[in-house]
Amino acid sequence: MIRLVQIMYFLKNYYFIMLVMIIQIKEIFAERKKYEQLYDDLVKLLGIRKVSNKLIDRIMYSRDYWPIALHWFMRGVVPAIPDIVVWPESTEDVVKVVKYAYEKEIPIVAYGGGSGVLGGAMPEKGGIVIDLKRMRRIKIYPRDLLVEVESGTYGMILENYLNKHGFTLGHIPQSLYTSTVGGWVSTKAIGQFSTKYGGIEDMVAGIEVVVPPGEVVVLKPHPRTSTGPDLRHLFIGSEGIFGIITRVFLRIWRYPEKRVFLSYATDTIEEALERVRTIVQSGVKPAVVRIFDKIETKKWFYWIKQAKNKVATIFVIEGNSKIVDAEAEIVKEAFKGTIFLGEKPVKHWLKYRFVVKEVSEFAPLGFVFDTIEVAINWSNATKLYYEVIKAMRNVEGTLLASAHASHFYPQGVCFYFTFGGIPPKGMTKFGYYAKVWEAAMKTTLKLGGTISHHHGIGRMRAPWLPLELGKMGYEILRKVKHAIDEKRIMNPGNLGV
Ligand SMILES: Cc1cc2nc3c(=O)[nH]c(=O)nc-3n(C[C@H](O)[C@H](O)[C@H](O)COP(=O)(O)OP(=O)(O)OC[C@H]3O[C@@H](n4cnc5c(N)ncnc54)[C@H](O)[C@@H]3O)c2cc1C
Repeated sequence: MIRLVQIMYFLKNYYFIMLVMIIQIKEIFAERKKYEQLYDDLVKLLGIRKVSNKLIDRIMYSRDYWPIALHWFMRGVVPAIPDIVVWPESTEDVVKVVKYAYEKEIPIVAYGGGSGVLGGAMPEKGGIVIDLKRMRRIKIYPRDLLVEVESGTYGMILENYLNKHGFTLGHIPQSLYTSTVGGWVSTKAIGQFSTKYGGIEDMVAGIEVVVPPGEVVVLKPHPRTSTGPDLRHLFIGSEGIFGIITRVFLRIWRYPEKRVFLSYATDTIEEALERVRTIVQSGVKPAVVRIFDKIETKKWFYWIKQAKNKVATIFVIEGNSKIVDAEAEIVKEAFKGTIFLGEKPVKHWLKYRFVVKEVSEFAPLGFVFDTIEVAINWSNATKLYYEVIKAMRNVEGTLLASAHASHFYPQGVCFYFTFGGIPPKGMTKFGYYAKVWEAAMKTTLKLGGTISHHHGIGRMRAPWLPLELGKMGYEILRKVKHAIDEKRIMNPGNLGV
């Protein structure tokens, strides 16, 4: 069996290399002139070190971490390809590129870590991909508890830097090692420690953005401001459709004095949800709260006897030691009468929380796999969990449907669903994939939830955005987009606008 899989791997890779060669030859003969002009112009503007039109670079920037795009890629299909890739090193460089793109009416797509999971960084209409990762300067303002950081900085680099100086951002997404500050802000991301520290929108104090026709917008960091609609929020979650985020001021915290780890097992997910609801509604903010349904409890904690056929809940409580002790007591009180699992499950989760291998392990075997995160108020939370699981399982081909709840608010909760399956005979992978997505989106909307809690919209969720925002809401978004970006060069097609 292993041999067979190895042979399949080899054939797939070989096939892919052949395809790349064919595209390359076609490229050399047919489209050289167009790229040469673009290349020459951008080299003149930025210098040769910051520009590439090599096919290998263009292919590397043809997709993000959208799982279905990986399937296409493995079949040798490159669904979108930029004409050129540039690596600016300063805001001035970004201004030059945006000015140029505006004059020539060339699409321009911002690229951070490429860890987005919805096709948001896919250069659907070709053009220029602008990779921000050479922009990574960091400066801490300790007295103001602020950090000024360029948008291409990788999350882990920023967090390590802050920790070394006695601070934390408190924003620890699972993609910490592979996502950038600009990506976080533009997708309105959230981290695993969100119940205490909030989402990225709670951290952004100031922002610098380059918008068409190549102008710089600077919104300074204030503790709070009452100066009309908050324009920061125009760019937070905008997924590159208005401009390129180049610099951000983020609110930071002193590194926590103390951490307490607690975990429990309950019989049902509704019981765990109810107990956590009382905790967050009492004003307690554990940094991490995660409720794993029975399937995910088995996956994570199969080695714990008392967790068998149960729902596990883990907590990390951190901060000022006196407050931490008081919060831990309130959590213990709320979980009285359940099975106490101690610190070990939390330590285990902390150790393995960045390991993500399912998509890359199972995709070569034909298994379609993805995650869908949504949020809902408490009144309909349990119903949403059961109905979305049921809707995903009802799609023919589904072999796995599970969830955990990982971000909590006094008003409600985010569920993070996982599904996997093999398309039935006669159905394409995308056909199966789209059906599961549709089932989850429709069920969420029907129950009054929001279709995305933190991954954003990108290209995959775009068809459902008008349903979420309503006719006029979506119309306003479209009008704002067209007012800022009259030539529609900024990530055209993303969010469907
Ligand atoms: C394994 C894994 C785990 C994940 N875990 C989490 C998680 O815990 N929490 C979470 O919120 N998300 C998570 N994600 C999703 C993803 O990491 C986030 O959406 C992240 O914020 C994307 O950052 P990035 O730098 O990779 O952006 P990219 O994927 O490069 O880009 C995402 C979008 O933002 C735009 N963009 C990027 N940079 C800029 C910029 N400087 N200016 C303007 N637009 C820009 C792009 O054009 C694109 O539309 C995960 C993804 C993976 C693969």
